[in-house]
Amino acid sequence: MSRSRHFAPFAGLVLAALGAFPAASFAAGGRVRVVATLPNLGSIASAIAGDRIDLTVIATGTQNAHFVDPKPSYMVKLRNADLLLINGLDLEIGWVPPLTQGARNPKILLGAPGHVDCSAGIRVVEVPMTLSRAEGDVHPYGNPHYLTDPLNAEVVAGTIAGALKRVDPAGAGAYEAGRKAFVKKLHEAVFGKDLVDLAGGAKLSREAAAGTLDGFLDDTSVGGAPLRSRLGGWLGKMQAVRGEPVISYHKDYSYFAARFGIRVAEYVEPKPGIQPSAKHLEDLARLLSQGDIRLILTRPYVEHRSTDSLAEKAGVKVVTIPLEVGGAPEATDYFTLFDFATDRIAQALAAGPPPAGR
Ligand SMILES: [Zn+2]
Repeated sequence: MSRSRHFAPFAGLVLAALGAFPAASFAAGGRVRVVATLPNLGSIASAIAGDRIDLTVIATGTQNAHFVDPKPSYMVKLRNADLLLINGLDLEIGWVPPLTQGARNPKILLGAPGHVDCSAGIRVVEVPMTLSRAEGDVHPYGNPHYLTDPLNAEVVAGTIAGALKRVDPAGAGAYEAGRKAFVKKLHEAVFGKDLVDLAGGAKLSREAAAGTLDGFLDDTSVGGAPLRSRLGGWLGKMQAVRGEPVISYHKDYSYFAARFGIRVAEYVEPKPGIQPSAKHLEDLARLLSQGDIRLILTRPYVEHRSTDSLAEKAGVKVVTIPLEVGGAPEATDYFTLFDFATDRIAQALAAGPPPAGR
């Protein structure tokens, strides 16, 4: 209570200062104040910009990004921000609009240069024919969990670097160097350093984006062996489990599944954001009893009763994998998040016989 009374005059001073001297904050050696709604966006921004930015991340990696409590303390951070990075596609619809309205910072309002929707340029999947939030569906513009495909981070890195250059032109060279270093590290993590050195990260990324990577790896030979034999990184690790059907709690692994070749056969939630009914859980138990599916993927912030019960009945594994940096102690940045996810999935599916029909 007392905090809000102290806070109002202070905020007024800050707004006045920003209005009067819009460029003064960087000229004085200050850093660009960046607020990211989600940890993955923060991790990418940090990798690109390092010490040039003063970064604040609102949600934690163990929170459900769809449902974050818009606390007044976040408004304070937004009031002073030069840049706001959001996931977009309505992922944060329940909490970012109230926060930006409360912050009254014109620099980060929709349409201002400091308002950065990181879904720009992303090829969105599962876009519905008609916009609808019927029955509580929380994916009205298509699937918003695009950063579960690590190659989409290349697009996001371009968007974030572009925004940083706009608000801090003096740092343009540093941001471009940061972006390039991030993309190089990303390509090596996705494809393995050996293959990147041979074929080039940009070429591999283009083939992957076009859906022609498999053909390229199988049809191109180096020293008498197909390029596929040089595939490493996360894709190399996941080759052994390609085609594996899994059940996922929420419809949040569509991009991951497409990139790494696993198949999400069913969801614990009948629709994104809707809790499973007893009938739906019975249907899932019946599906699991057929023996093809050996793994249920769940998230840190959802109820575990349904998945534990299903796994116990069917004798399958259930693993909890975060979607965001900080969702597990091992996931300290965007790279270790995927190290962790691919390790856990590959290990869970490595033991035991392959499903029937493979
Ligand atoms: Zn979702």
